[in-house]
Amino acid sequence: MHTEIGKPLSVVNDVNLIGPKEGQVLIKTEYCGICHSDVSVMDSLDLTPMILGHEAAGIVEEIGVGVSSVSKGDFVLMTPIGPCGICEMCNLERYTLCERGQTFVFGTLPDGSTPFIKDESPVYQGLGVGGFAEYTVLEERNVVRIEKGISLETVCLIGCGVQTGVGSVLNTAKVIPGSTVLVMGLGGVGLSVVQGARIAKAEKIIASDPVEERRSAALKLGATNVVDPSDNNLVNAVMELTMGKGVDYAFDAVGNSELITLGLTVSKAGGSTVIVGAPPPDEELKFPSSLHLMMSEKRLLGSLLGSCNAQVDIPRLIDYWQSGQLDLRNMISQTYSLEDINLGIQDLRDSNGIRSVIKIHGS
Ligand SMILES: [Zn+2]
Ligand SMILES: [Zn+2]
Repeated sequence: MHTEIGKPLSVVNDVNLIGPKEGQVLIKTEYCGICHSDVSVMDSLDLTPMILGHEAAGIVEEIGVGVSSVSKGDFVLMTPIGPCGICEMCNLERYTLCERGQTFVFGTLPDGSTPFIKDESPVYQGLGVGGFAEYTVLEERNVVRIEKGISLETVCLIGCGVQTGVGSVLNTAKVIPGSTVLVMGLGGVGLSVVQGARIAKAEKIIASDPVEERRSAALKLGATNVVDPSDNNLVNAVMELTMGKGVDYAFDAVGNSELITLGLTVSKAGGSTVIVGAPPPDEELKFPSSLHLMMSEKRLLGSLLGSCNAQVDIPRLIDYWQSGQLDLRNMISQTYSLEDINLGIQDLRDSNGIRSVIKIHGS
């Protein structure tokens, strides 16, 4: 539980659960990955106490009145944004902008309530999921049924990092075959961007990260070239690798304004730079020449959770994994118990490994 900005998470035993109410699903959480957004919340969000964890997989324990898409015993993935399907944004197929799906930022269910309670006070639900808990309650549309019996320890990554990374390639940027792609930052999200670019049949995938282990993982997962930005000038390296042309698509999977500017610099005329990582809220973006952007028709695209419609894209990503196109196993470095969750948080802070997963029930 997140109790104070900058403090480690505390493991507590006396949290009670409310629900499932009408339209809600009670889930026994099996595994939950640790994502960068969890750490950002720990470091900056004064909305406490809060149960974090939003890359979660589990088994349905109980359903509320009116729930029809899942039943007790179903294997499910949870997603921070469950599109309602009927609002203006959903009708425009901008599912991550769903007017009723954006409540995840408030740490509550869409109705403003939270399913967790401690000492008679509400406990916020991190990014609308609350996956670092033995049980959680979500709206039906934030729950996606998957095939029974598959490894929840492996597929939980799809809940956030893989949706975000692969989705940014296929849905936001719509990378076309034969393109050149630059991926900056090779954690769980960046490596998912690399895999998305491979699935989209990009011809050249240049992957950049200061950590050697991550660069070699990128090569295994589909990158054609890797660059260590601490040893090389990344702009020069990208220009050299593209024979001075630049790339069709540049992805910032870190959430860093300098890298976004770099993406705009090294993308070709007509190319796109995609913001996939979440930059700090007060960070400004600077670019030396607006005229250059106008003349070159370069595009800057924001991508939230890979612009995914979770109900459609999660099953699609499971298919990619089952058919061998998406490698999830090589993205998981460590699995920790809930008691050791702060070790996993520290790994993420230290860029030690790629993705850590927390075993909650792990049955
Ligand atoms: Zn996340
Ligand atoms: Zn909607």
